Amino acid sequence: MKRKVIQYMILAIYFLSPLPIAFISLKGLNFSLAAPAFIGIVSYTWLLSELITAARPKFIEKYFSLDKFHRFHGIMAIVALALGLMHKEWASFAWGEFEFSTVFGDFAIMLFLLLTVLSVFFMTNWLGKIKIIKIVKDTVGNFFFSKYSVMKFLHNFNIVAIIALSVHVITIAYLVRGDMTLTMMYALYFTVSLSFYVYHKLIRPVLLKKNMYTITDVVNENDQIVSLTLAAENGRLFDYKAGQFIYLRVLDENYSFEEHPFSLTSAPENPHALSVSIKNSGDYTHIIQRIKAGTKVTVEGPYGGLGQPLEDIQNTDKSLVLFAGGVGITPMLGILESLRKKNAKNKTLLVWSLRNENELVYATELASFQKELPNFTFIPFYSTQNGYLDAEKTEAICESAAVPYAISEFVLCGPKGFMHTIESTLVSKNVPKQKIHFESFGL
Ligand SMILES: Cc1cc2nc3c(=O)[nH]c(=O)nc-3n(C[C@H](O)[C@H](O)[C@H](O)COP(=O)(O)OP(=O)(O)OC[C@H]3O[C@@H](n4cnc5c(N)ncnc54)[C@H](O)[C@@H]3O)c2cc1C
Repeated sequence: MKRKVIQYMILAIYFLSPLPIAFISLKGLNFSLAAPAFIGIVSYTWLLSELITAARPKFIEKYFSLDKFHRFHGIMAIVALALGLMHKEWASFAWGEFEFSTVFGDFAIMLFLLLTVLSVFFMTNWLGKIKIIKIVKDTVGNFFFSKYSVMKFLHNFNIVAIIALSVHVITIAYLVRGDMTLTMMYALYFTVSLSFYVYHKLIRPVLLKKNMYTITDVVNENDQIVSLTLAAENGRLFDYKAGQFIYLRVLDENYSFEEHPFSLTSAPENPHALSVSIKNSGDYTHIIQRIKAGTKVTVEGPYGGLGQPLEDIQNTDKSLVLFAGGVGITPMLGILESLRKKNAKNKTLLVWSLRNENELVYATELASFQKELPNFTFIPFYSTQNGYLDAEKTEAICESAAVPYAISEFVLCGPKGFMHTIESTLVSKNVPKQKIHFESFGL
């Protein structure tokens, strides 16, 4: 079945998930009772679905990129919370107060609100960059706010709010409505969603430890980037596509227990080891620069859709054009390594935007691509010297490398502004959006 059709099917299941409960619950109720209840049911089922999306199930993620998946998770949580608030106000206006069972619902809504506000301030990614939030953060001090690990820690308390919310709906269904079928439906939805969450938070980390990885090689590419080779203790690597990424957790008391995403720089054609390359970008990635060979880690994945463009050019005369900004080079290394191992003849262009020549690392890898890929062109672009890549410079580079727009797949990975500029330039050259593939390093 086509990817798009499956995407629409998944979205339809998500958006229609409140209907079975609504059907049972609202039968025979008049509008003034049914309307606030319907909004509450929608809010509840969508909030429960957040437990499923938080567990990033691979069978769903593979049809979307994890980046989009996380955005959806964030936006829908806010929509569901707003509906929950609307339900609370409308229900107390239309039905009066039920002393007993709203205690849990009120507590849940308050806790959700508190955690949402705190999360937004501790976020370092897209939501935290909204102008008004940025102004407050800058005024109060980014040292206190903008800590990804604090945000993740606080986020965990949402489960308490979800449990309180479930107690609220289940007690209403059982004690107020006296409806056993409805009670069971609520309990079923809760149990299914909670199982995803429990699997993700408790069972998956234990299972991952059954096939730990050992860091067998550490290469400090420069004082800001370290490359690690990882070998599976049981000798079996998982299947992945070049350009995909993993979640890495270092099993050492000096590291936080939190897992971090890193793109694979290795190619699936190498059955013996995985590799990643990590830039010092914050607390965790700072201490990882000094990690020792022999350290144990767990690896979870693969995720991400960058494997697709390589599949699309395989056994064809299509071209592949890779645009990397800074550490966004990492998935490109995996993709190029895979092409090299396959002896691919496709025309391939790598444009790597860097601040200056000192950042130009991976000399061995780049030399081997240049030597062994017959149609490979590498263009480093130094922004200190030439300014940031804009539409004109992007076009000039593509022209100098004779990029055949009509038969190329494009892969972009780097800062948001960088990817946006290149995407709009390509679109202005009539490249269809489905031929432009992204990976965003800020989830
Ligand atoms: C799909 C993907 C692939 C990536 N691949 C690479 C790579 O190959 N090499 C590399 O050097 N970096 C990569 N990154 C970025 C890397 O994950 C972050 O730089 C790292 O997690 C920062 O953690 P920190 O504690 O050092 O920094 P912090 O100061 O906590 O955060 C710095 C930035 O990293 C983000 N970040 C922090 N922790 C996480 C997390 N657990 N999950 C998601 N984002 C986080 C924050 O939102 C922030 O924007 C990738 C990120 C993503 C999403």
